Amino acid sequence: MDNRLYVVIPCYNEEEMLGITVGRLREKMTELIRKRLISENSRVLFVDDGSRDKTWEIIRSACENDGLFCGVRLAHNRGHQNALMAGMMYAKNRCGCIVSMDADLQDDIDALDEFLRKYENGCEIVYGVRNSRETDTAFKRCTARAFYKLMRSAGTDIVYDHADYRLMSGKALEALSEYGETNLFLRGIVPTLGFKTSCVYYDRKEREAGESKYPLRKMLEFAFEGITSFTVRPLRLISVIGLLFSVLSAFGLAYALISYFSGAAVKGWTAIVCSVWLLGGVLMLCIGVLGEYIGRIYFEVKHRPRYIIDETAGDKDDE
Ligand code: UDP
Ligand code: MG
Repeated sequence: MDNRLYVVIPCYNEEEMLGITVGRLREKMTELIRKRLISENSRVLFVDDGSRDKTWEIIRSACENDGLFCGVRLAHNRGHQNALMAGMMYAKNRCGCIVSMDADLQDDIDALDEFLRKYENGCEIVYGVRNSRETDTAFKRCTARAFYKLMRSAGTDIVYDHADYRLMSGKALEALSEYGETNLFLRGIVPTLGFKTSCVYYDRKEREAGESKYPLRKMLEFAFEGITSFTVRPLRLISVIGLLFSVLSAFGLAYALISYFSGAAVKGWTAIVCSVWLLGGVLMLCIGVLGEYIGRIYFEVKHRPRYIIDETAGDKDDE
């Protein structure tokens, strides 16, 4: 079994955090090498997702000082998922397995031992799952719950409370590389690969330095990306709403006719105004949902590259 590991870490404006991350990972990787869980030529791969601060300088100097580290710099900020994909595809033919994690080390790196043991036992994919969400705000807890429920009801095998802390074998990465979509939602795609999988439970910590790159707006965008990349249910919902309103308006028509023939034809202003607004709103909502899907189709058919690599550092002759 090839136990050369690449730890893939997307970084966006992480200058405050990276120094700490480099130190901790150096310790952890040395420990794993000593325990013979990974081979000596294992690496930590930082993917600079077009940062505007000193992130790349820090990565480059880490690579120059220590052969354990290597780096890839994307030409432009392409978002967490694309940066992760770039790193995984870069590592694919260089190692036996990868583990993806965030630069802020909120995910417990001591869980790596367990990840690797499961890999040794033949698992191709190992999911890191959070024990609890105590470190999250109540709002994030509730919205996350609702989101996972929604995704599961849409028929995905998404793993509850698993973010992007996971191990993937070379075989699983090869399979993943066949997925050509632009609308990338890895935690939805990976479970569709199949293979022997397992979970490792860990406690997630608070971010130590720097700030979250996922404010509410990005979180919502990400959730919407997840939903639209996996299900056409919202489109079907439009038909259901349309049908419902047609039935309702039939009742309305009957009511209007009865009042007309019974001579009680009223001014009717309120009813008309209300229904015009309501129907207008519903119609616009429906068109909006259609538009969202069409917009995504537009991006998919263009087949643009997900990312462009500008520069690399470290392990150049490692292929
Ligand atoms: N990240 C990235 N590109 C982006 C935004 C974020 O590569 O456009 C990285 C970021 O540097 C971090 C990871 O994605 O390593 C997760 O981001 P963060 O920790 O800010 O998210 P949170 O944990 O708050 O959800
Ligand atoms: Mg984080």
